[in-house]
Amino acid sequence: MTTPLQTRIVKHIKSSGPLPLAEYMHWCMADPKDGYYANQTAIGAKGDFITAPELSQMFGEMIGIWAVETWEMLDKPSRFNLVELGPGKGTLMQDLLRIGNAVPDFLKAAEVQMIETSEKLVDTQKQNLSEYENITWQTSLQDIPAQPTLVIANEFLDVLPIRQYIKAEDEWREHAISIDEKDNLVWTLGAGVLAAEILPENATTEPDGAVFEISTIREAFITNTCDLLRQNQGAALFIDYGHGKTAFGDTVQAMRAHGYTDILKEPGLADLTSHVDFDALAKIAKTSEMNVSPLAKQGEFLLAKGLIERAGQLGHNCSPEIQEQLTQQAERLALPDEMGDLFKVLEFGTILRVLENLIMWG
Ligand code: SAH
Repeated sequence: MTTPLQTRIVKHIKSSGPLPLAEYMHWCMADPKDGYYANQTAIGAKGDFITAPELSQMFGEMIGIWAVETWEMLDKPSRFNLVELGPGKGTLMQDLLRIGNAVPDFLKAAEVQMIETSEKLVDTQKQNLSEYENITWQTSLQDIPAQPTLVIANEFLDVLPIRQYIKAEDEWREHAISIDEKDNLVWTLGAGVLAAEILPENATTEPDGAVFEISTIREAFITNTCDLLRQNQGAALFIDYGHGKTAFGDTVQAMRAHGYTDILKEPGLADLTSHVDFDALAKIAKTSEMNVSPLAKQGEFLLAKGLIERAGQLGHNCSPEIQEQLTQQAERLALPDEMGDLFKVLEFGTILRVLENLIMWG
């Protein structure tokens, strides 16, 4: 099926030439009319993929424990920003604020700031968080008020566009999308060439066809977060799938109805994501004068925050079926061959105790 977005992309390619992957991803995901997040029921059992907060309330609750601990480390400011980037259905924030119920001063001080581009998801977030008053929707990190700040983001960085470069005869040429004689979308090499100094040292030994990925928009989000924290004090927690060491390889994938599909097929209908290079992002945070905790695996992070204890508490006096469900949820989130190892936790901020806190599982 030719999607409306495909028709527009083909027209664009005919007039302006091949479209770099990053621009293609941007159209597919963020186009306000025909893009994925404007139209699709992305997240959840009925959507295309399921995220950790949708799997279990315990995920957001453990982030809530991190938020309360970090607020305490900041000397319990009486007002602070609790910023979430790409909050999806608002489930993580709901679960996080539930933990806050046990710490009334935290809840009173928290000014929740949601940064979300999809109008459809903003509506869902407003519905799901209607019982809380102190929530504002913003379009950019630049609009966040000047006061101590916590930033959280789960599966946000992976949806941001990336550029891919392919090694071809000693040059790294930009991966782009063109059309064939039947107007099908096909891969091609674009005009852009990656400067050698951006590549890792061992790039010269990579064979032709090797792939290197960069995401300038991800890097910009990290830089802007660092600026915000440096100016106001605070800390950030980015959770996503990705690698701890910069590496070569094609990690872009398209997901639809819980299965993989072709990236170039039916643009706008599938969720396009890629693995996050946490190494590159941690370096940016360090250069931006942040204390950066050792990169942790999601499983380690959740266990350190009390996942097992929380599962036990929730299952107390419940039926064996409910207890079994809770065990399965905890396993899915934390076991190494489930989400536990692939998903990583990048934490940085102005407070040094953040670093000390993490050394035990870094
Ligand atoms: N954090 C949620 C949702 C993950 S899906 C969860 O874990 O379930 C990615 C989210 O990022 C969606 O809410 C999407 O609309 C949002 N998003 C994508 N690009 C964005 C951008 N540039 N700025 C803000 N939000 C964005």
